[in-house]
Amino acid sequence: CGVFGVVGITDASNFVALGLHALQHRGQEAGGIVTHDPATGFNQARRMGLVRDNFTNQKVMETLPGTIGIGHVRYSTAGSKGQTAIRDVQPFFGEFSMGGAAIAHNGNLTNARALRKELIERGSIFQSSSDSECIIHLMARSMGRNIPDRMEEALRKVEGAFSIVAMTRTKLIGCRDPLGVRPLVLGQLGDGWVLSSETCALDIIGAEFIRDIAPGEMVVISDKGVQSHFPFRRAKSRFCIFEHVYFSRPDSILGDRSVYETRENIGRELAKEAPVDADLVCPVPDSGTPAAIGYSLQSGIPYAMGIIRNQYMGRTFIEPSEQIRNMGVRLKLNVNRALVRGKRIILVDDSVVRGTTSQKIKDMILDAGAAEVHFRIASPPTAWPCFYGVDTPQRDKLLAATMTEEEMRVHIGVDSLKFISLDGLYRAVGQPNGRDPASPAYCDACFSGEYPVAPSDMIEDGFQT
Ligand code: 5GP
Ligand code: SF4
Ligand code: MG
Repeated sequence: CGVFGVVGITDASNFVALGLHALQHRGQEAGGIVTHDPATGFNQARRMGLVRDNFTNQKVMETLPGTIGIGHVRYSTAGSKGQTAIRDVQPFFGEFSMGGAAIAHNGNLTNARALRKELIERGSIFQSSSDSECIIHLMARSMGRNIPDRMEEALRKVEGAFSIVAMTRTKLIGCRDPLGVRPLVLGQLGDGWVLSSETCALDIIGAEFIRDIAPGEMVVISDKGVQSHFPFRRAKSRFCIFEHVYFSRPDSILGDRSVYETRENIGRELAKEAPVDADLVCPVPDSGTPAAIGYSLQSGIPYAMGIIRNQYMGRTFIEPSEQIRNMGVRLKLNVNRALVRGKRIILVDDSVVRGTTSQKIKDMILDAGAAEVHFRIASPPTAWPCFYGVDTPQRDKLLAATMTEEEMRVHIGVDSLKFISLDGLYRAVGQPNGRDPASPAYCDACFSGEYPVAPSDMIEDGFQT
């Protein structure tokens, strides 16, 4: 998901809408905006679908006055299966004795089911099926004297990944979980302040990047400025390494690192680790593009657009049903036939999850007359599900969970298949010695199976790490 918020900016909702539009790659199922204006109180709009289809409408935007606002773009994760219902669309809102508050959450809480059960037994009335709603109910039960105190108390009870943007009538609040699994940055626009999942959404509104919110940090922003504190037990940060590989936009800066440069580095590492004699390096667009450029630069094999993407389709994996996902590849990608005929092609993609994408692309490219197809993947084999906010399927659906690399090669049907090593990936994200097994610098659970936060709800279900 993507989260965004502003305070101290006239027509806040228009800026929130633009920010969410720049974060649309983080979730395309639905979006919502909450604002506050002294004359109208809290204003809320939640809609299914894209930001540009909902929050450009004059009638909708007129209902969202105020100089403070937050928003969310949704992509349903491990916890919530199936079609998104409008009641699951964030921001969530709660009315407390000291006033209202809205919160928008990116990440996934790993103890939400246990918390929810307990809260329901004690009388909480849940409105949605979302893990994030627990936070509102925990806040309602807190005895804290103000909303930031209540939020702090609530967040000390949840486990897992959270980057949160929240608001009261006058305050914008940002918080990251102690491991800082998901990104969150602070920006400034004139006298106003901005919180955003990624820096690309600061750029769109012309805001200046100030700094990352630190893992475990909570900031409370009001007309008195930015107050920062660290309410949780300090821990070593474990940022999601997959944000660098795939999830974030290449024009964003994550923890002082350009995502584009990292992806190009990954391609260079791949070319060193898994060279092959071929005529062209082609990306699976768009997610494989920077890595393909890196592979080409390192290997000296020319880069070319062997596959053309229809820009009007969303990300395939965000479509929740398998049927649509299967069709999706063909609807979104097409082979540049004249270019690939008779050629030995190196195809670079970011990841293999179920293997559906790779298989269809291989079919299309062989059908167009390619002489050889060599897959190079910009992440290690995805063998474990993510419980921290990325929608990887159950373990048995992950190709790498049940097959060796050679079995995957045969299954996909290509001449060769190589994944970057975990050490190579760490080198590409700026760890020259690779992954330190005693204390890894990132979360890499979907590749290593080492979960930095025990997925307690899943373990109760019999999941074995
Ligand atoms: P597959 O077709 O192997 O299931 O999915 C791989 C494709 O989905 C890749 O092209 C990749 O761009 C995209 N993808 C990237 N990240 C994810 C993810 O977290 N979950 C899923 N399901 N697909 C992803
Ligand atoms: Fe990121 Fe993978 Fe960790 Fe999930 S399991 S937070 S996708 S590195
Ligand atoms: Mg892709």
